[in-house]
Amino acid sequence: MQNKQNLFGLSQSELDTFFSKLGEKPYRTKQFMKWIYHQHEFDFNQMLNLSKELRQKLLQVATLELPKISSQNFASDGLIKWLIDLGSDNHIEMVYIPEKDRGTLCISSQVGCSLACTFCSTGMQGFNRNLTTAEIIAQIIIANEHLSHENKKISNVVFMGMGEPLLNEKSVYSACDLLLDDLAFGLSRRKVTISTSGVVPALYRMAQTTPVSLAISLHAPDDELRDELVPINQKYPIEELMAACKNYLTSGTQERHILFEYVMLDGVNDTMEHAKKLAKLLRGISAKVNLIPFNPFPKTQYKTSKAFTIKQFQDVLFQAGIRTMTRRTRGEDVDGACGQLAGKVIDKTRRTENDRRH
Ligand code: SAH
Ligand code: SF4
Repeated sequence: MQNKQNLFGLSQSELDTFFSKLGEKPYRTKQFMKWIYHQHEFDFNQMLNLSKELRQKLLQVATLELPKISSQNFASDGLIKWLIDLGSDNHIEMVYIPEKDRGTLCISSQVGCSLACTFCSTGMQGFNRNLTTAEIIAQIIIANEHLSHENKKISNVVFMGMGEPLLNEKSVYSACDLLLDDLAFGLSRRKVTISTSGVVPALYRMAQTTPVSLAISLHAPDDELRDELVPINQKYPIEELMAACKNYLTSGTQERHILFEYVMLDGVNDTMEHAKKLAKLLRGISAKVNLIPFNPFPKTQYKTSKAFTIKQFQDVLFQAGIRTMTRRTRGEDVDGACGQLAGKVIDKTRRTENDRRH
């Protein structure tokens, strides 16, 4: 029997090609996308403005398949964490973070991560495979399905779950296209953020390929410390990373900014010296800094910086004129915070070699 094609995750132009192969006119793409993304109708038989003949054909050659939810956890502060089963014993996690004026969905781009940042629970588990565009998009559809019953909305999508999005460029950029497409999710480019630990060549490509927002996981102001915390720095040191950031800021037709993420590790990267170096590094760049209190996980060597230290660190940046905020820790009772997303990964990497391969 012919393998059916999963139509989730196909872009407008890919759907145009699909429908034209079935002998249909391009307007079918528009009708079809509205059914799935606006009406949340996934049963071909119910898509009543498609001809009966086309509906029959779709049943034969296509599917609209979503992965299964393994578990849902509701934290006392409103955060929701889902564990999604991708088959073959691979699971990914995603998190919904409600706030007063918005609702952010934090999604995964890979099963695990090969980059092994020392403070990251995902990185400690190893890597199995990239997600397909359909699997990335499925996370938003699944969350939407659930949230619509509670009258909650996703206003922002961030690639800050499991995985390094810039090591899965093709699927991530296609997913971004759908996130911005009015026929699909229709989000503005400012409301979609790719977060990266600094895959420099991919950053140059990203600057030309997609208009979405950028977050850089910096975590240290000098190479010596960053080499240790974010091992990909050994390959792409800070100077090269900052050059790629400047290129991103000056590419594209609209004004761009960068969010720099900095995890606060007690006694490791949180001294006043570090703060001053960071301020110097970011001087003259259109940047905002997000200080993230470290979220501990079992067997970690790190501790979260003291609240007072974080405040002092933030003050140094403020005084240097850098917009800085400290991220509130959320979802602690369900391990739903950044870097606690662990899923379940069949590791296909050999941990000790992985940091220099990319
Ligand atoms: N791989 C990408 C995106 C996923 S990680 C990246 O590194 O940017 C999303 C964010 O969570 C990153 O800024 C990452 O550094 C941060 N993070 C990872 N582990 C963390 C932890 N234990 N506590 C706090 N933040 C963490
Ligand atoms: Fe991978 Fe990001 Fe975790 Fe580093 S912080 S190991 S790049 S997911």
